[in-house]
Parts: sequence; structure tokens; C-alpha cells
Amino acid sequence: MAAQTLDTPYLIIGAGPAGSAAAITLARAGKQVTLVDMRDFPREKVCGDGLITDSLNALQRLGIELPAEGYYHSKGVLMYSPNGKYCEFDTEALCYPRIDLDLRLLEAAKAAGVDFRPHYRLRRVEQADGRFGAVEFVHTESKESLTVRAEQLLLATGARSEPLKLFGVCQRERPSAIAARAYFRVPAAVAREFDKIIVVYHQAILPAYGWIFPQADNTYNIGVWDIYRKGDDGKGGEIRSVNELWKVFIETFPPAVRLLANAEQLGPLKGAPMRLNLEGADFYKQNLLVIGEAAGTTYAFSGEGIGKALESGILAAECLLEAAPEATPEQVGARYAKRLVAQCAHRFRTYEVAQHWLSKPFLCNLVTRQVQRKGYLKRQMEGIFEERVDCEAVFSVPSLIRSFVS
Ligand SMILES: Cc1cc2nc3c(=O)[nH]c(=O)nc-3n(C[C@H](O)[C@H](O)[C@H](O)COP(=O)(O)OP(=O)(O)OC[C@H]3O[C@@H](n4cnc5c(N)ncnc54)[C@H](O)[C@@H]3O)c2cc1C
Repeated sequence: MAAQTLDTPYLIIGAGPAGSAAAITLARAGKQVTLVDMRDFPREKVCGDGLITDSLNALQRLGIELPAEGYYHSKGVLMYSPNGKYCEFDTEALCYPRIDLDLRLLEAAKAAGVDFRPHYRLRRVEQADGRFGAVEFVHTESKESLTVRAEQLLLATGARSEPLKLFGVCQRERPSAIAARAYFRVPAAVAREFDKIIVVYHQAILPAYGWIFPQADNTYNIGVWDIYRKGDDGKGGEIRSVNELWKVFIETFPPAVRLLANAEQLGPLKGAPMRLNLEGADFYKQNLLVIGEAAGTTYAFSGEGIGKALESGILAAECLLEAAPEATPEQVGARYAKRLVAQCAHRFRTYEVAQHWLSKPFLCNLVTRQVQRKGYLKRQMEGIFEERVDCEAVFSVPSLIRSFVS
């Protein structure tokens, strides 16, 4: 088996949104970057494909323009509560398949000069003199090995724990949530009726929630996610099957039943783990920074993670670029961790509260009713989606009281 070795200043492992965002930022600043992924692109990534404000802002910061076609622009979000009623937010969002989004990001990285190595799976890492040295990958087809020696490493491998364990940055093996989705194509006349993003707190699957995200060409991404609740330790706690929840969702949520009556399912239901709330991993160790969902950058409120993965990749790259020449890797890592926590931790804690509220039927029904009044609470909730409003101030008793009067 042939073996290759290469030296590079920056090695990024994982070419999802976090890895590509870091690669683009470093390469555009003139740095030499090697980006390795176990898959070749375009590749599918199990996701809801929804892009909310933070994702759109981060893409803009990276100068990534979306194509003229191939995505869906939803001019509103419908939220269904357990009693079957719904409210509407005027927030805009896009649905853009990850197979296309991630390719677009990777192409921008390659155009900036990044050396991309597909098909290499992380296998082993050496540590010497208090830093990570050679990182060994194995080609998923030829089995040939690739050894990369880098001064600085960025780990962007998403929610799975194995890469985190290899680097000794895994604080918790179990993910925070599991989600699954499948695509469907429906007749054009039916699609015209379902023209907005739908988020569903359906009685039959609570505290899990479901979604129906319209895509281009009369297709829909329909999924469900379920959070591991505190105490669900993988031993004593009861974990429900997300595949069964999904089946219950599409068979008993009336709009889903109507939408899918004459639909064609495009491919199987696929699931994936999620790491939320900046929990489950260290943010840095020696000359390694952990970015994106590997560091738990996905929201507990909505399961949205593309935006924060992009932001963390940009942030990590900026910390490296801004570092003084005499700064140690640990100092750079500590600065990155501090800024990541400052940027996200408060927001994430309050999103957890929001998720908790909405998973309680009484509160979810009440919030939906108050949003329907099109006053204070509607504006505040829209502000949360668009990151203009502090979630803590909205999911509070004073805020609910205020929603009755304004
Ligand atoms: C069902 C589901 C629905 C979701 N819906 C949404 C949504 O609608 N909107 C939203 O914003 N977020 C959503 N998310 C969350 C979103 O998918 C993640 O937050 C986002 O993908 C994180 O990006 P990342 O770059 O950190 O990791 P990933 O996108 O997971 O990228 C990691 C990359 O690392 C590579 N890799 C992994 N292990 C190795 C290895 N050992 N060796 C080499 N390469 C490796 C992978 O091939 C992959 O390309 C959803 C997640 C799920 C599971």
C-alpha cells in the first residue's frame, strides 16, 4: 500500500460548513491550508436544509452567493402547537439542500487555494512535546495512508464522537439529540398550498418536534428530532426511536397526511446525531481548535446549526490570524474558546429554555395563541429567529403577561 506524507501549516479535518468556513478565511488571508474529508463532494449530509438569518449572514460574510435556482425562499414560518392551532411568523428563511450548499462552500475554499484531500478518514494522531504532531488518515477506497504534519489543526468533523476521542477532547460520547429526515415530491397543485416552512409541536411526538421544509421542484424535507433529556444517560433513561417518531409524525399530523397523500418518497429516511449547546467536547487542546458541531455549536431551540458552524469556523480562523507571533497554541485556543462562549453561550442557554417551554403542551398552546394576536410576542419571536432579541426576555413570565396587553 502506497503511503504519502505532507507538511502544511494548517490542517483542517472535515469539510462541512465549519471546516470550509475556516479554510476559506485562512486561505484568503494568504495561508497554506490542507482540508481533509472522508467523503468526496458533492456528498449528502443528513439535515433539514434550512438556512435562517445567522446562516445567511455568515454566508454573506464569506462572500458566498447562492445560485439563481435550486433553493426555496420561504416568506414565513408556520408553527403548529399541540392543540392543532398554528401561528405565523413573517421571518424569511431559505431551504437549500446540503449536497449543494456544502459543495459551494468547498468550491470557494478550493478557489481560495485550499488543498482538498477527499476520501481520507482520520485514523491516528501522534502527540509529542505537548502538541499534536503527525495525523494519519486512511483512504476509504484504496486503503493507502496519508500522514499530515501540521503546525495548527482544526477539527471540524461534526457530531460523531470518534474523532473527538482520538484527540482526547471528548467530554461526552453520547450526542445531545438524534434527528431523521426524508425527501418527498408532491404534485404541483399540492405544493402551492404548502409554501412555507412548517415547524410542528405535535401532541403525538412531544417533546420531540417535526418539520416540513419546502424545497425547489415541489419537493419537501420532512423530519423529526428528539433531544436526550437530562437523566437520559443511555443506561437508565428511555430513548425513543426517531424513525418511529417520524412515522407517527407523517401518519398523524393532519397537514403532513394531506401533503403526502399522493407524494413520491425520494430515497430512504436517514438519521444523524447532533451535539447542541456547546456541550460534550473541549474547544481546544494544545495546537488543536475544535469547531462547528464537533464543539456543540448547534441550537437546542431549533436544531439549527449551519450558521453557528460557519461562524465558529470564521472565528477560529480569525483567532489564528490575529495571534501575536509569540502567542502559544494554548493562548490562541483559550482566546478562541473565550470568544466562542461569549458569542454563543448565553444565547444557547436561553434557547434551551425556549425549547423546554415549547415542548410543554400548555405553554406551547399559549405562546401560539398569543403570537396569533400579532402583537408583542409575535414581534419578539421573529426577533429571536433573526437574532435581534434576547430569547431569555421572551420566554419569561413577564413577557407572557405583556403579550396579553400589547
Ligand atoms: C436531521 C438533521 C436536520 C438538521 N436540520 C438543520 C437545519 O435545517 N438547519 C441548520 O442550520 N442545521 C440543521 N442541522 C444541524 C446541521 O446539520 C449541523 O449543525 C451542521 O452540519 C454542522 O456543520 P459542521 O461543519 O460542524 O459538521 P458537518 O456538517 O457534520 O461536517 C463534518 C464533516 O466532517 C467529515 N468527517 C467526519 N468524520 C470524519 C473523519 N473521521 N475523518 C475525516 N472526515 C470526517 C464529514 O464527512 C463531514 O463532511 C440538522 C441536523 C440533522 C442531523
